[in-house]
This record gives sequence, C-alpha cells and structure tokens, in this order.
Amino acid sequence: MMNRRELMGAGGAVLFASLRKALAANYDLVIKGGRVIDPSVGLDAVRDLAIANGKIVAVEPEIPGDATQKIDARGRIVVPGLIDIHTHAGRSKDGPPLLLQDGVTGWVDAGSAGADNIDQIATVARTAPQTGRALVNIARTGVVSPAGELHDINAANVALAQGAIARHRDVVVGVKARLSENVADTNDLEALRRAQEAAAPFNLPVMIHIGQSFSAMRAILPLLKRGDIVTHMYAPAPNGILDEKGRLLPDVTAARRRGVIFDFGNGVLDHFDWATVERATKQGFWPDTISTDWNVMSKTTGVIDFPNVMSKFIMFGMPLSHIIACATVNAARAFASFDDRGTLNVGAPADVTILELREGTFEFLDNYKGTRAGQQRLFPAGTVLAGKPVQRA
Ligand SMILES: [Zn+2]
Repeated sequence: MMNRRELMGAGGAVLFASLRKALAANYDLVIKGGRVIDPSVGLDAVRDLAIANGKIVAVEPEIPGDATQKIDARGRIVVPGLIDIHTHAGRSKDGPPLLLQDGVTGWVDAGSAGADNIDQIATVARTAPQTGRALVNIARTGVVSPAGELHDINAANVALAQGAIARHRDVVVGVKARLSENVADTNDLEALRRAQEAAAPFNLPVMIHIGQSFSAMRAILPLLKRGDIVTHMYAPAPNGILDEKGRLLPDVTAARRRGVIFDFGNGVLDHFDWATVERATKQGFWPDTISTDWNVMSKTTGVIDFPNVMSKFIMFGMPLSHIIACATVNAARAFASFDDRGTLNVGAPADVTILELREGTFEFLDNYKGTRAGQQRLFPAGTVLAGKPVQRA
C-alpha cells in the first residue's frame, strides 16, 4: 500500500496529471471568454461555455483544462442559437444551410405552402441541418404572389388543411393566414375563422399577417387566442396597430395582455416603415419576437441576415438583452417544438450563436426605401449546432 506522500511522489504526479487531462477531455468544445447573453436566465457576463455530447455542460467564469476543440470568443457576444419564427426557408433545400451561416439554428417556414404543396416544404424541413418547422397556409395553394391566395375564399379549405397537419405532425406547428386586402380582399375575417377551425383539433397556434387589411384590428384581434401570433406588427395603415392619430389601439394592448404574440417580420414590401416603428415603440410597444420573413434572396434586400434585422432595434434604443430574448427564448416559447431551445442552460442542446457587435455607421432599410443610420450592427461570427462548430462558407 502507498501512503499519501508516496502517491504524490513522481509516479503520483503523473497519475494526477493524466487524471486531470481525462476530466478535461470530457469536453468536446469550450467557447472561451465571450460576453454570454442568455435572457432565459438573465445572464449577461463574460463566461466560458463547455459542451459535451451535444449538450451544454458548464457555463462558468473560467473553465480550466483542455478540450477537443476551443473557440476564442473574446470580444464577441455568445447567445443561444437564434430562432427565426417567420421565414420562407422551406421553399428550397438551399435555404436552411444558408440560415445556419447567419446563426439561425431553428426556423419556421410561415405559410409558403398550403395543403396542396406542403409535402415539399416538409421534406426540406426534415432534411435541414437544424430544427425546421412549417405553418400550413390556410389557402390550399400557399402564398400566391403578387396575385394573392385568398381572393376566392374557397381556397381556404379547412378539411384539406387539417389533412396536411395530420400528414405532417412532426413538421407542421401552426396555420398561417395572410390578411392584407391585396391577398384576401374582403375575406380576411372568414379566412381567419377557417384558420382557427383547422388548427383547433390539433391545439396549434395561428399566425396572421396584418396591415392594409379590409377589416380593422378591432374586428380581427378578437378572433385570436392565447399563443396566436401577429406578424408584420409595424405594418403601416390602413388597419395597422395605430389609429389615425398615431396612437396605439387599445385593442392591440388588450390582445397582448391576454397572450397574443406580436412579431416583427421584416419582409421586403409593405410590411413596415420607420414611422410606425418609431410611433409604436415610443408608446412602449416593442416586439415579443423578432423575425426576418427571410428567403434565399434576402442577402440583397433590407433583410440581409437575422443579426442585421435585430440591429434595427438597437438603433431604436431597445436593450440588447431584450433584443436577444426576442430572437431566442421568446421565439422558442412560441412553438412547443423549441421547448428545449433558446437557452444556454446546463443540459440544453448546444445550439450557440456567436455575434460580433461592430461600431460605425450602418444604414438600415424599411419596406418603403426609407433608410436610417445606426451606430452599431450585429454580425454573424459563428454558429455551433448540436455541439459542433459550423464551417464558415
Ligand atoms: Zn412571410
């Protein structure tokens, strides 16, 4: 038998060193020294983040020892993998890998397809590298642009939409209805009623797109239940969230109070202007979730990438941790499929986004060719999906 002194002699030191190495090697990846912002636990501090077997295993001021891989995140912001709840990523198999480059580790295709063509979207979602989900458009055709899919209300077929949901329970997480007059004419309320009817037996949310609708918010919003989502929340009049004097409608605050989610949905045309964002946010009406309305062409539009869209709210003075919440934990809460995402808690799947916050002058675009200059812009600087660093394209 060796006593303690003998154990800590020459042979013991080697044993001890190899033991330490074995313990440290339990980590597959350590992300070192970044400013970790995880609104799910109110954390905003410099931390190391250790990952093993695809899960977060430690978030500490200093994680010593070796890991198979290390990422130096000093001077960077480390956040839970971004979740974009309004995209059109399902339209092409090229979409999801592009989104991954932007830091998006979870996405929802919001109504690109209806019952007639949801099968293709579901295939893209199932084969995507990250978590992909879809909303089925209440119009059986899906989005018809620019003509609009709900001019004939018969396109909103409840039985067909329910069949699409039943066929794709693993992918379809809600129903979408686009309610602007150029899409739905005078059919907005009936289309929304049918969307609710389709979703009801499955207990799924409905996402509506607002702005320039035939009906007023006071008629539309009562048809929404807790957990339903209003996207393009800052769409200009007619029939946006402000009255003719620019005041926030009481119906809108009442809807939020009872659990309706208000989503940004950047988009390209007609979906937001700076004046509406400014008036609404000055009255304290910030987004619950921030989303892009992204598609494979978005690099060349005012969207560019998800961090660019988030940066528009830095310009309006929204606290950074609140912005990150809108793109992570709040987005995750909108759909049960993301229940374990949007967080860097120990035990969570290791989906992590690394961002760079650059200072300078950056020009941002609304949907009416309006530009505004901000002094800070978030850039994608790395993505970790299920514990593995994503190769930069
Ligand atoms: Zn959209």
